Amino acid sequence: MQVTETVAAVDIGGTKTAAALVTRAGEIVTRTSTRTPGGEGAAAILRTAAALLQHLRAESAALTVRALGVGSAGVVDAGTGRVLGATEVLRGWAGTDLRGALTTATELPTTVINDVHAHAIGEARHGAGAGAPTVLFLGAGTGIGGSFVIDGEVMTGAHSAAGHAGHQPSPYAAKLRCTCGGSGHLESIAAGPALVAEYQRRSGAAVADLRAVSALAGQGDSIALDTIALGGAAVGSAIGGLVNVLDPHIVVVGGGVSMLGEVWWSALRTEMRRETLLSLIDVPVLPAALGIDAALVGAAELAWGALR
Ligand SMILES: [Zn+2]
Repeated sequence: MQVTETVAAVDIGGTKTAAALVTRAGEIVTRTSTRTPGGEGAAAILRTAAALLQHLRAESAALTVRALGVGSAGVVDAGTGRVLGATEVLRGWAGTDLRGALTTATELPTTVINDVHAHAIGEARHGAGAGAPTVLFLGAGTGIGGSFVIDGEVMTGAHSAAGHAGHQPSPYAAKLRCTCGGSGHLESIAAGPALVAEYQRRSGAAVADLRAVSALAGQGDSIALDTIALGGAAVGSAIGGLVNVLDPHIVVVGGGVSMLGEVWWSALRTEMRRETLLSLIDVPVLPAALGIDAALVGAAELAWGALR
């Protein structure tokens, strides 16, 4: 079948910006990505996204591009299309008129949303949660975020900030300092950098990154194995609590930390079941299916939705 109609999607993350052209069925036809110039200010970040889109459209001139969907790091007001808040990883990003700037640059009707919300929509509509009426999504990577998806729509909250799952208290985090300025939050013990720090605290040895901790675990290093299990248990405990509150049909877990393997997943499942009410004990928890494409697929879904 010849594809002629697509929408464009952009995923603006702290380290990488990706763009794609996506069919109505959620299939990525073509894609490209580059480093996000996060330290260079909002104009540079916008220029990078616009250039990726221009490149894709020039390269696929036979395809019609009808609209643009954008998933971006930071708190994004989907109503006004503005970035309400962002960390220092994206300097000057807060306050940016994201929708206005990319509408002007691309001359496409543009929809914007937070990147974790986009990720959740992708998984809920075309990934591991496809077909489930409600999906609790949790993404564990450099940070920890989440989203509750009802009939394919994310619950964004009264201040566009719903889903900050990494910033709930965790019994595993004691008084550890959190990236948000608080302490004792899930992210401060279970995100990727937190697991690296925990390994270093326990072993007294420096490790480069989470991949190094994972490699040590593969060699049977007991401190690495315990650290990974602790991270899985902390995420599982948090999910158990959220399941008790939300009663989702399914839980989907993604992000780089979720690639740590069976030790992490086994601890997650055990701790989730321990926290979950008896009547909710069979709520399934599945690994995300779309990998790094999920936010692009979710952003494209929004763009298609805006055309209806
Ligand atoms: Zn926090």
